Amino acid sequence: MEDSYEVVVIGGGAAGLSGALALSRARRTVLVIDAGDPRNAPAEHIHNYLGREGTPPGELLMSGRDEVSAYGGEVMTGTVTSAEPLGDGTFRVVLADGKAVLARRLLVTTGLVDELPDIPGLAERWGRDVLHCPYCHGWEIRDQPVGVLATGPLAIHQALMWRQWTDDVTLFLGDAIEPTSHEFDRLAARGIAVVDGAVAGLQVTGDRLAGVRMHTGQVFPLAAVVVTAAFAARSEVLESLGLEATDQEMAGHVVGTAIASDATGATAIPGVWVAGNVTDWKAQVITAAAAGLNAAAAINGNLIEEDTRLAVEAKLSC
Ligand SMILES: Cc1cc2nc3c(=O)[nH]c(=O)nc-3n(C[C@H](O)[C@H](O)[C@H](O)COP(=O)(O)OP(=O)(O)OC[C@H]3O[C@@H](n4cnc5c(N)ncnc54)[C@H](O)[C@@H]3O)c2cc1C
Repeated sequence: MEDSYEVVVIGGGAAGLSGALALSRARRTVLVIDAGDPRNAPAEHIHNYLGREGTPPGELLMSGRDEVSAYGGEVMTGTVTSAEPLGDGTFRVVLADGKAVLARRLLVTTGLVDELPDIPGLAERWGRDVLHCPYCHGWEIRDQPVGVLATGPLAIHQALMWRQWTDDVTLFLGDAIEPTSHEFDRLAARGIAVVDGAVAGLQVTGDRLAGVRMHTGQVFPLAAVVVTAAFAARSEVLESLGLEATDQEMAGHVVGTAIASDATGATAIPGVWVAGNVTDWKAQVITAAAAGLNAAAAINGNLIEEDTRLAVEAKLSC
């Protein structure tokens, strides 16, 4: 016999745990299945989460797991490999270890993967002194030298953004972009230095970034390197259900993929909701959590409708 739940939440980051908390408090039977690999795991602290400013990512998630458990929700460590509709509106969720559980509704909050440019040493320092988001790390790097490594046209936007936190910004063009004269004027007006030529790798001293090394051997001292990652939705489970991640754009440029959903997180498949980075690459921790709550309320409302319809049918058949 496979265990059956009203809602199975796939992914136990901020979005999933927030949804699971609201559903548990709504007296639904809930199982969260989480692989334990949240996007911000390399970062020391979470910033811009009101009331929990500076909390380590793992600490917030441990509190979330405890809060879900306190209301009767179950949290399990595991990886979901696929989910299938059973034809009666319910779903079978299959885990990598071969186990399976049944669910009336699914909330999928599997997040996204930051696909980094292929520069030696970069991935190892991601989230520490190789950064992307000034709202997450800008304050900590304020007034220090920052280098933006261009991988596409949005690098100019990034350089202008980071200039808000420090007046020592250098844009390394590589062979990724050729700014127009108007763009050069905008960068120069904000005092942003522009360096031609390709970055060969990072210069690291001890366990700290010291700068970037050009192919010429020249080293530029830096406290942090900024890159544009591609935001790839972790959509394998949703794809197993027949949904497809679509390209997401910013200022006319593709920045990654996401699973489409409506304002409540409902997808094109009845009974399947999404929340957080898997559907919204811009979501920060607090907005991912809010989206999880929003989807949970929609799922609960949807189950109330079904429970009421079934009760009416049962009454009429008596
Ligand atoms: C380096 C870095 C620093 C950041 N710092 C901040 C910050 O300071 N403040 C801020 O607000 N935001 C920050 N962010 C953004 C933040 O990481 C996201 O907003 C947040 O993680 C989105 O939450 P989520 O629940 O959608 O996804 P996640 O937190 O990524 O959670 C998804 C969960 O689903 C699990 N999962 C995935 N696939 C499966 C599967 N098949 N089966 C089971 N489980 C699965 C994963 O293991 C993971 O635990 C940062 C991001 C990065 C990369």
